[in-house]
Amino acid sequence: MRLVLLGPPGAGKGTQSERLVARFNIIPLSTGDMLRVAVAGGTPIGVKVKDIMARGDLVPDELVVALIAEQIDAKEAGNGFILDGFPRTVKQAEALDKLLQDRKLKLDAVIELKVDETALIQRIEKRISDTKAKGQAVRADDDPKILKQRMENYRKQTAPLSEYYKGTGALLTIDGMQPVDKVEAEIEKGLQKRVNV
Ligand code: ADP
Repeated sequence: MRLVLLGPPGAGKGTQSERLVARFNIIPLSTGDMLRVAVAGGTPIGVKVKDIMARGDLVPDELVVALIAEQIDAKEAGNGFILDGFPRTVKQAEALDKLLQDRKLKLDAVIELKVDETALIQRIEKRISDTKAKGQAVRADDDPKILKQRMENYRKQTAPLSEYYKGTGALLTIDGMQPVDKVEAEIEKGLQKRVNV
């Protein structure tokens, strides 16, 4: 199973990704997580992207495309993967198409989680207070002002991907405002129609 998870910050991609990983025994590939590891480790990539991420902007396409290609080659072991946070621009989607074509792989579905913006801000505020309550470090970009920037970048650069994937017939749009279990069940139902699961 090869999936893409699409949705604005706070849409619940991480939660649904975990469930799909367990359900289909696939590999989670999150560019956000990879980049945060690079920043924390102070690697050359981390140094390059630290400030860009902290202000809520997107890092260069070539950089994330290279990261994803490397991870697919290292980890895609037949069962497939779920991409969370990638692609995020039409350029990245085109690069992904090419990358998959070269490896004779194809996407089974692109799952788009739809949520309204007010709910997103509330969800992220809750994520911040939950993280603080657990005594863990809050993400540098989980800040109300930066969140606005992330949303705007989503609207401008990532939302057009839903049209891009509509054209391929792979798009599965799910109402992400529903409870987590309901969202999961609808994804499952949608996948059943499309793929033999
Ligand atoms: P969220 O979806 O909650 O905003 P992510 O963890 O997916 O968070 O991404 C955090 C940040 O990492 C983004 O704001 C951006 O700076 C960078 N990033 C992650 N994935 C990509 C990508 N595919 N292209 C460009 N930048 C990315």
